[in-house]
Amino acid sequence: MSTGSDADEVQVEPQDSLLSEFFEDSPPNQVARVSDLAVIQPSYTPILNTPEIQLHCASEVCDGIRFFRCVSTDKRYTAAHYKFFFLTYQCSNCRQTEKHYSLAVKMDHIEQPTGEIYKFGESPPFGPPTPSRLIKLIGPDRDIFLKGRRCENQGLGIGAFVYYRRVVENQKNRILKEIIKVSEKISLPLDKIQILRDAVQETQFSRALDMTRNAVPESLLINGHSPLLLLHSALSEGVHALSDEDCLELASSIRVVLGELSERLAQALKDEAELSRALTTLMHHKKANSSNPPKSS
Ligand SMILES: [Zn+2]
Repeated sequence: MSTGSDADEVQVEPQDSLLSEFFEDSPPNQVARVSDLAVIQPSYTPILNTPEIQLHCASEVCDGIRFFRCVSTDKRYTAAHYKFFFLTYQCSNCRQTEKHYSLAVKMDHIEQPTGEIYKFGESPPFGPPTPSRLIKLIGPDRDIFLKGRRCENQGLGIGAFVYYRRVVENQKNRILKEIIKVSEKISLPLDKIQILRDAVQETQFSRALDMTRNAVPESLLINGHSPLLLLHSALSEGVHALSDEDCLELASSIRVVLGELSERLAQALKDEAELSRALTTLMHHKKANSSNPPKSS
């Protein structure tokens, strides 16, 4: 590899990827060259390689990244050109969750494991899962958000940005009301709560977010920044002035901030609930002790 400014101009042959990476990380409608496409068996028909892969399993038992193994049986590569495969992968832990792939495969040569693979689609759809708390936070705009997510997964930056912007603008009040709920629970000073309430009434979106500048409770700040101001600055960019790549980057940051905010809101309410439960327990304990003086044993 050369270094320096010339390096940018050197055309590097893209390296073949591994089939497992293709299954896990490639969005649909993409073709890739892979180095381990087929299992070659001398004097037998080659078969499509189906390595074990790691995916998010959403079952109650798992709810995390798990190994998935292919349970499809017919994997013989008999065609001279493209051959189509429907593969089913199953979570090896719960054995409930399945992933289905629709693929076209072309080997370079019947005696070589390399070749091309195209992903028509997969079900459930490609992409990391959207946290249920985030879905709850945006409520009625779930479908628009998921459309944005699909755009983002396929690298369609402008589409993703516009969908996410609509979600945040539509659900501004829902988000603000959740923040007010936390603020009331943790007894934020009343003047700050009032600012948040005024922001709900303010119909001009960017003015409303700007008003909340110093009113968001500390427990909801992300690295010291108000999530509302972070959203505001991402959304204030005009989509006409931005490239698709810039939009994609902004769209991803909007999604990350929304996700983080939904986590913090839930955590703040949970912390508060735990704290008041603990206090109630201690108060009862104290009362019970004072009404029943300890007996000598
Ligand atoms: Zn599972």
